[in-house]
Amino acid sequence: MRVMRWCSAFFVLTACRSLPSAEPLPARPELQHLQSRASEATTLATSLCDSAGPRLSGSPGSALAVTWAVETMTRLGLSNVHTEPVTVPHWVRGLEEAAVVSPGVHPLAVTALGGSIATPDGGVEAEVVEVSSLAVLKALDGGSLAGKILFANVPMRRAVDGSGYGETAGVRRLAPIQGAMAGAVAVVIRSVGTDVNRLPHTGALGAEASAIPAAALSIPDAELVHRLLSAGPVRLRLRLTPRLEAPAQGANVVGDVPGREEPGQVVLLGAHLDSWDLGTGALDDGAGVGVILDAAHALLGLTQRPRRTVRVVLFANEENGLAGAKAYAAAHAAELPQHVAALEIDAGGGMARSVRVLAQPSALAAVQAWEPSLAPLSVHVETGSAEGGADTSVLRAAGVPQLDVRQDVSQYFDVHHTANDTVDKIDPVQLTQLARTTATVAWLAAEQGIDFGRVPEPQRTRAH
Ligand SMILES: [Zn+2]
Repeated sequence: MRVMRWCSAFFVLTACRSLPSAEPLPARPELQHLQSRASEATTLATSLCDSAGPRLSGSPGSALAVTWAVETMTRLGLSNVHTEPVTVPHWVRGLEEAAVVSPGVHPLAVTALGGSIATPDGGVEAEVVEVSSLAVLKALDGGSLAGKILFANVPMRRAVDGSGYGETAGVRRLAPIQGAMAGAVAVVIRSVGTDVNRLPHTGALGAEASAIPAAALSIPDAELVHRLLSAGPVRLRLRLTPRLEAPAQGANVVGDVPGREEPGQVVLLGAHLDSWDLGTGALDDGAGVGVILDAAHALLGLTQRPRRTVRVVLFANEENGLAGAKAYAAAHAAELPQHVAALEIDAGGGMARSVRVLAQPSALAAVQAWEPSLAPLSVHVETGSAEGGADTSVLRAAGVPQLDVRQDVSQYFDVHHTANDTVDKIDPVQLTQLARTTATVAWLAAEQGIDFGRVPEPQRTRAH
């Protein structure tokens, strides 16, 4: 039934819209295959998470993930499967405890931010001072919080496009810096998330180590501290025992679907192999890993491979350093002019909604001509510029054009960076649509001869 509906939708769309004469009509059998085949994306994501578990850089799980990726890419039939060495930070969480000790005693659900230093033995105990916006945080005076614990309570807005995260996530970087500058002995933030679970969200500080201990409270616990503060002074005790080990050896894992006519021209599909340590990284970014491996496998199942090479790169260390992306860009610097486009899937398992491009301006019309090919998936082409993913932003800075498959992320930040990021949160129906969309975009970019050019100089840096 699905195939019949798709065929009639395709016929109507191709009959009613004209495509640029420079490009051939989408080859219908290829799209039919890519958009109707059973997807293995959920099976692949589940296999990674169950095989490797949590896989923060330098952990035993991160090494298991590399082994899994090499074996899986080989089994799926990718060519030139290999690892590329990456030196990664190795931060280990340790114990974490927090409680309000006055008024009353309230144990709090807390987790260290990645890169936090430890508290002194026995922890710290101090009066809490609340700050409720990034603007106030930025305006703190030096020494104004001497001996206090800074509480940065900045709520995140739920949004289908994830814009609430962009507005708020800077608190993880800013609060420890401003707290230290103001003389605070520690900082706790309201978790950057949209749920009401008593599960704190971790995330990187933006530096290898903080100057003061830094942790996130679950959102209900942040609300509790806020209510208590509205009635009077609050004292909080915090104990964290993380440590920063010597840098470790990690790896990017790379495999190709070799182009049949232009093998030197590369369309890069990226996702990150590492995850935070609290859950098993099913949505962040097991889903992305499953989707791009499934898309590559789908391309290998076509009667003829695309003209250009489609390269799968599973990056190391996205979460706390981007060392994998930097190592890939350095190792492949001579090839980057032939990287025609890069696409990263790293926004959970929600449905694809739209596609965007960032390239030379003339490429937009060619990508807009993909609309009829994407319409059966209920995906449209936006005119706004792509941003690229965190890893591919390093390639963007080198001028490599970016393609975004924008997803519905309205539920993603309920579990992002928490112990709840586990495989049961993956919806196979949504992940199948995302995988089919990714395969379609990869095929169009690799099969058609679109000249994406380079990202114009002023647009090579991401806004956030
Ligand atoms: Zn991620």
